[in-house]
Amino acid sequence: MASNTQMEINVGYQGEGENLFAIADAQLKRGYDALKLDDNLRTILSQPKNEIIIHFPVKMPSGEVKLFKGYRVQHNNALGPFKGGIRYHQDVHLDELKALSAWMTWKSALVGIPYGGAKGGIKFNPRDYSQEELEAITRRFTHALGSNIGPEWDIPAPDMGTNAQMMDWMMDTYVHIHSSTEREAARRVVTGKSLTCGGSHGREAATGQGVVYCIEEWAERKRFDLDGATLAVQGFGNVGSNVARIMARKGASVVAVGDHSCYLRNDEGFNPHKLAEYAREHRQLKGYPGGKEITRDEFFEVNCDIMVPAALELQILEKEAQVLKAKVVVEAANGPTNLGGEAILLERGIDIIPDILANSGGVIVSYYEWLQNKRSESWYKEHVEEKLQRRMKRVYDRAYRRAGELKVDLRTACYALALEQIRNVYDARGVWP
Ligand code: GLU
Repeated sequence: MASNTQMEINVGYQGEGENLFAIADAQLKRGYDALKLDDNLRTILSQPKNEIIIHFPVKMPSGEVKLFKGYRVQHNNALGPFKGGIRYHQDVHLDELKALSAWMTWKSALVGIPYGGAKGGIKFNPRDYSQEELEAITRRFTHALGSNIGPEWDIPAPDMGTNAQMMDWMMDTYVHIHSSTEREAARRVVTGKSLTCGGSHGREAATGQGVVYCIEEWAERKRFDLDGATLAVQGFGNVGSNVARIMARKGASVVAVGDHSCYLRNDEGFNPHKLAEYAREHRQLKGYPGGKEITRDEFFEVNCDIMVPAALELQILEKEAQVLKAKVVVEAANGPTNLGGEAILLERGIDIIPDILANSGGVIVSYYEWLQNKRSESWYKEHVEEKLQRRMKRVYDRAYRRAGELKVDLRTACYALALEQIRNVYDARGVWP
């Protein structure tokens, strides 16, 4: 299955030697099997439609020219334009983006928005570059992508290592390389833009907010009181910090956190606002005065009710799954659990709210942003949140009920629901010519 070099696959990842696309494929197979889906659809969905790899030179502000490797993988567009984030990370590689693009297809289909799936990225560490350099890299990448993206064709958004500022640069560059009569429409070529440039209220917190809606649905069914609950959050970027902040409002406290720099513990509970401010300012958690430093192993063993991986993929493997004490793992990150880890969690009676459901709030509000741009509207934050909450509750409930009907776990039920949507379209339209 690996279509890139082994060296690329292995660099820096926790699940060394694991191929993320093979994991995505195995998860999908469980969905097929639950539905007894026909072989032709399996064949169509077995690989992405397009895999674009671009080597592009950038003239840095110093005058030096550097070569970067950028990707855009377009998985499927049966339900609507390709949609998904752009990731800046030194370990970005093709099979990772193939898996992430497939997850976007299932995510959009599951939550009922008219999009397909895509994912892109640039293989470099954005922390090593200044704002000026990041702007040059982002603009040159957008220019190189050219008409491979488009407001009705493929719509990027933020992901790990990117933010609203980068989306603004992408939008601005795209708009300038297209004809002036198309300019207004072209602005919705990316979502997750800043409010000033046509972004939506509530988009920045949307993924974290959606994670919390899922936790509430889980707690309601378990008759579990979130007031006084304890949380461990891995990754304290946009998603992790928003989960911590919103959960604090519900009376829950974060007792352990971690990021690329360190892991911290505080049995009294961290102040999520101070922690987020520190993380934003220092671009890491290391050095935060309000907690005791612990090891990564100790983090996964910590006593807590809810474990929220909100960082990179492949973090909860067999070893972590065996010692985890939480009642539920909420996959705010994409692909944080490998197959062995998942089997152990389920056997130990630890629930999993799967990524394609748990973190779907981001792309849902991206859809609302795109709709607002299309209609030249700006919705109130309350309106966006209300719509998001209603949709996520409905999808969670449908997935929960489908799991019961099919007698499968929640992840498999989510795949089954997504596949049913896509199957219906292929059944109606056929494969032609
Ligand atoms: N990168 C986010 C995700 O993985 C959001 C994608 C989007 O808004 O298109 O779901």
